[in-house]
Amino acid sequence: MAPYQIPVYFHPNQLLFHPKKDWDQKGLLEHPEVPERAESILKVLKTAPDDFLIHKPARVPLTAIQQVHRLGMLQLYQTASKLSKDQPFYPTHFPKVHQRKADPNNIHHAGFYCIDTSTPLYKKTWTSASWSAASAYEAARSLISGENRLTYGLCRPPGHHADHKYFGGFCYINNAAVAAQALGEKGTVAILDIDYHHGDGTQSIFYYDNKVLYVSVHADPVDEYPYYSGHALEQGLEVGAGYTLNIPLPKGTNGSAYLAAIKEQVLPKLLQFEPTYLIISAGMDIYSHDPVGTFKLEVEDFFKTGETIGSLNIPTVVVQEGGYCVHDLGSCVQSLLYGLRSGMQLK
Ligand SMILES: [Zn+2]
Repeated sequence: MAPYQIPVYFHPNQLLFHPKKDWDQKGLLEHPEVPERAESILKVLKTAPDDFLIHKPARVPLTAIQQVHRLGMLQLYQTASKLSKDQPFYPTHFPKVHQRKADPNNIHHAGFYCIDTSTPLYKKTWTSASWSAASAYEAARSLISGENRLTYGLCRPPGHHADHKYFGGFCYINNAAVAAQALGEKGTVAILDIDYHHGDGTQSIFYYDNKVLYVSVHADPVDEYPYYSGHALEQGLEVGAGYTLNIPLPKGTNGSAYLAAIKEQVLPKLLQFEPTYLIISAGMDIYSHDPVGTFKLEVEDFFKTGETIGSLNIPTVVVQEGGYCVHDLGSCVQSLLYGLRSGMQLK
């Protein structure tokens, strides 16, 4: 019998946005969040047509994005779409807490909607980011009929650092949150974020929510981006208290220590919550050769991680987040998806 064919969602317009430089603490670097990331993943998935069925998503309804992000932020992206071709705008001026006035029609006010200098705006930012959200949205919605139990949104640019009000960390629209809103109409949702970096945007969107559980395993933010979020003491507030779980791990964590954290801390939390749907925010920057992260997972560790999570057998959408080793990115994604399929015993 042929194996379960995993539906993959991706639109070529996601390649149009190409940030060139990252204005980082180390200075002006080559930007790691490039279209070649998505091309690397596609290339590998296309070598296994029996295992992956690649679809172009339809445009995402604007209302689905507006459920997640404030209007001013979305208006700013429209303003950026009037920039001339290849001309970036780097937010460099940020408001103090009491300064609450900005004009999203003025590109010079972009810092009001942003948290860092690594996330430039370009003419094509909105085009690619909105199609990236469309890939997540449709991958999520294709679980609803029950026909598919495992789907993949090849989201690029990524999303988990963007919250209601702010973009940053290479993220403009929170794709996992868009997926969670779509699935939340049909049941409860858990988001498991395995990116090397804490998903501060996703956490903050659902911090006061008891319908969406957010669990994140990431590098200790004491000395890793995003620094001010992702500590174990952050567990949600008000009705959301207990619905956020942060598992910070030390720099250099290897595959077996990582898998132990998944088995001993993540699985019991997911079992206790019993979500109708699971969203995996899949960052491959936990890979041993990733130029940004310091964890030491090998390609086969992605399979083991997927198989362990898949054993819970919850209908799952995988949403792509970070991962910057362009050469091996596709193999890491394929390994995770194969692991999930195996754990879920999908035939
Ligand atoms: Zn990351």
